[in-house]
Amino acid sequence: MPPGELLGMNHTLGHRLRDGNFPAPSETRKTDVLIVGGGISGLSAAWKLAKSAVDDFLVLEMESEAGGNSRAGQSPLVAYPWGAHYLPLPGREAVHVRALLAELGVLQGDPTALKPTYDERYLCATPQERVYRNGLWDEGLLPQRGIDAAELGQQKRFHERMDDLKHARGRDGRRVFAIPMALASRDPEWLALDRISFARWLTDNGFTAPTVHWLANYACRDDYGMAHDQVSAWAGLHYFACRDGEAANASSDTVLTAPEGNAWLARGLAQKAGDRVLTGALVWRIEEGKSGVAVDVLFGAKTTRFEAKQLIWAAPAFVLPRVWPEMPGELRAAAQAGDYAPWLTANLHLSDLPAERQGAPAAWDNVLYDSPGLGYVTATHQLIRRHQRGTVLTYYRALHDVTPAEGRRLLLETPRAAWAEGILAELERVHPDIRKLTTRLDVFRNAHAMRRPVPGSLFHGQREKLANFESPRITLAHADLSGFSLFEEAQYRGVLAAERVTARRQVAR
Ligand SMILES: Cc1cc2nc3c(=O)[nH]c(=O)nc-3n(C[C@H](O)[C@H](O)[C@H](O)COP(=O)(O)OP(=O)(O)OC[C@H]3O[C@@H](n4cnc5c(N)ncnc54)[C@H](O)[C@@H]3O)c2cc1C
Repeated sequence: MPPGELLGMNHTLGHRLRDGNFPAPSETRKTDVLIVGGGISGLSAAWKLAKSAVDDFLVLEMESEAGGNSRAGQSPLVAYPWGAHYLPLPGREAVHVRALLAELGVLQGDPTALKPTYDERYLCATPQERVYRNGLWDEGLLPQRGIDAAELGQQKRFHERMDDLKHARGRDGRRVFAIPMALASRDPEWLALDRISFARWLTDNGFTAPTVHWLANYACRDDYGMAHDQVSAWAGLHYFACRDGEAANASSDTVLTAPEGNAWLARGLAQKAGDRVLTGALVWRIEEGKSGVAVDVLFGAKTTRFEAKQLIWAAPAFVLPRVWPEMPGELRAAAQAGDYAPWLTANLHLSDLPAERQGAPAAWDNVLYDSPGLGYVTATHQLIRRHQRGTVLTYYRALHDVTPAEGRRLLLETPRAAWAEGILAELERVHPDIRKLTTRLDVFRNAHAMRRPVPGSLFHGQREKLANFESPRITLAHADLSGFSLFEEAQYRGVLAAERVTARRQVAR
């Protein structure tokens, strides 16, 4: 068994919120705007505030570094992701994504162009993906070999239908599946899709082919950590139909990525905040008063009280009832209504490139058709130096086949060696020498990784209460407000919260 560690979100610190018993504040600090949570949404709020010349803010993050689900590790060879790893080409609706990419020099020229040019180093190098099925690697995501004509016909019809849906508009004139989702049509006819599961929508629409169902199921596991018979059809279709971004120098299905996954985007957002991001800072109590918000924060063994005029909550919604005793009842119910998908990732450090099975050549994203895990991405794929000694593979697995509570129990109780053995056995099918080459295998657990878009959760009550919540001093951010977790959604919610706070400050003057 290769050496390694059992890592993950700091559950010991997180569980202290359940147990209480925090030390009383021993000092007080003042700031204008306090942002809780240093993931993409919190960092986006900070980014937007700094761009709006609001300088007196702080970001509080409980982990030892910012980035949330978009953090990365670093080996002597290469950086590698612990979670989020790609960003599809942004369409023109994703104005904030494009503004950030332009600021970072990755989008070159006019950020409003239909087909901007992107820095080649961030465009995923080909081959982008392959899938392993029946002992062979196939190019792309959808298996083609050994599939009969009728099934290939369904695959084609599915793609055509998704292309049509990309352009579909509701009776209010808005795109049916926009990203960010807040811009999507509110035509009730389309919102009714939120009532049924994605698997049911496929069957109702004559899609019965196993490979089409597999693709839909894979997409839901990949983006939502859930099987397609548990996911809202609106969310399932959104995955396929929301992205309409194009590039002057790449095909429209190309994604933006880097060895460290999306951590470069988190860093880019954090640049303007500089040393105003405080880590190791667990927020354990919030009290909204007439003139401000008092926030108690644990740093090591000491509590500091922060007095702020405005608070942006950019941490997951389920944490809020634990820290805000006076939280309004309706909002509390909405925060507690949803559940979160548990996830496991692992980084395998290899001393050489592994032996290959037959079929398509090694790609960035290597998908396993019939496996508990989704597959793996290769950190060195983006590097120009071709003949490296070794690589790092990031393995992904959503625990979608058990209830979220059972998944969390498994994450808490299963030792690293058991996970590592399972992962090596799974990858040995495609790379027979992987055990010999793996010099280190770290496992990362994320028990509340992302809010689950189950049928009824997006447009039939509770999510909207989170998204529309207004109080004079507390504003919510976080991807939870969209009901599912994507970079574009997290960034949008952070920017929107910053805009609301900036507007309030102007009124108050
Ligand atoms: C395995 C995995 C793979 C993914 N892959 C992709 C991908 O490829 N592309 C993509 O677009 N998205 C991906 N995602 C989705 C990803 O979650 C979003 O892109 C985005 O990072 C979410 O940001 P956020 O700010 O909404 O949430 P989070 O990342 O959850 O950030 C919230 C932050 O709040 C902090 N916090 C919580 N409680 C407290 C407290 N009491 N006090 C202080 N701080 C607190 C947390 O530590 C955390 O850092 C992936 C997610 C996972 C889990």
